[in-house]
Amino acid sequence: MNKKNNGKGIYIHIPFCKYICNYCDFNKFYIQNQPVDEYIDCLIKELENINPTHNILTLYIGGGTPSSLNTMQLEKLFQALHKKINIKNLQEFSFEANPEDLTKEKVTILYKYGVNRVSMGVQTLNDELLKIIGRGHKEEDVICAIRNLKEIGIENINVDLMCALPNQTMEDLYNSMKKIVECDITHISCYSLILEQRTKLYNQVKSKQVILPTNEVEEKMYEAVIKFLISKGYNQYEISNFSRKNYESIHNTNYWKNMEYYGFGAGAHGYIDGKRYSNHGVVKFYNKHIEEKNNAKRTEEKVTINQQIEEEFFLGLRLLDGINLQDIDKKYNINSNKLYKKVIEKNIKLGYLKLENNILKLTYKGLFYGNDVFADFLL
Ligand code: SF4
Repeated sequence: MNKKNNGKGIYIHIPFCKYICNYCDFNKFYIQNQPVDEYIDCLIKELENINPTHNILTLYIGGGTPSSLNTMQLEKLFQALHKKINIKNLQEFSFEANPEDLTKEKVTILYKYGVNRVSMGVQTLNDELLKIIGRGHKEEDVICAIRNLKEIGIENINVDLMCALPNQTMEDLYNSMKKIVECDITHISCYSLILEQRTKLYNQVKSKQVILPTNEVEEKMYEAVIKFLISKGYNQYEISNFSRKNYESIHNTNYWKNMEYYGFGAGAHGYIDGKRYSNHGVVKFYNKHIEEKNNAKRTEEKVTINQQIEEEFFLGLRLLDGINLQDIDKKYNINSNKLYKKVIEKNIKLGYLKLENNILKLTYKGLFYGNDVFADFLL
């Protein structure tokens, strides 16, 4: 196995937010009155579990809102990371942020400690819509954040956009995309809003206070995103991800390539030494477990060969380059063309998949039915 395939990623979860968005069902907590300093100490302790023989390729600090940490907390975490990992050797060091937090002071700290990619939760540049979904920023905060990042020298920036927001029109979507493209952003992710139970938005939709676009409109929006961003020179390399050449997210691509990664922090998931695990999600429980036994795993499960094969397909097919069946066959000593004969034939017939030179990939039509296709690959 070559060095690259043997490498691992690290994901660190910061589960605190300065406000709670109406649609969000991530593992997050309103930051006020949370034991944030203790949490950082516990994270630093949990980092001791990194196997020193592992080659760390990427580091991703996500949330929640990592940028909700104050400058002292950030410095403390970064200093610990520098002690533990050779940051200079990383292929990518990403940090998630909300635009209003990216002050000159904070971007200076990010830059100082080697962050080379910032992923911003923007969702839309329509201030009215931002208010409806409960975000804490406005369009001007986004523009200012991008300026601060570029001035300090962080030019690899991802902007998360959303479509199918309540009351969102096609015009809103185009306006947001146009403005972001004008800012010369290297990477754009665009996801449809998913209405999750146990969110404020769910109740608002049920009581008809807000109206979500229909499935047909949502589909048209997704199509508009693909066509617009491609026309502006972006490459769609994953169902929801677009980038300038050589700016694909390395960390996330490694997830889709089914590579292993550590997950640290409350509610984080990891995949190390053939086992998938998840940590306790509630901050107090997480802290307690780390303090008492330096481990906060709530679940841990060995991934069976069949599960690994399934994952190769339903993760790998998210990438527009598709998957090489010959490589999978060699890796697992199987004949995937035989194993998935019916599934592959069915999806080719439906026009969702194509198979050329042993490369299996989604078609343009298949991009719209990805979840149906992936479900077929469960053994
Ligand atoms: S969407 Fe992001 S900022 Fe909003 S509550 Fe969820 S994690 Fe926090």
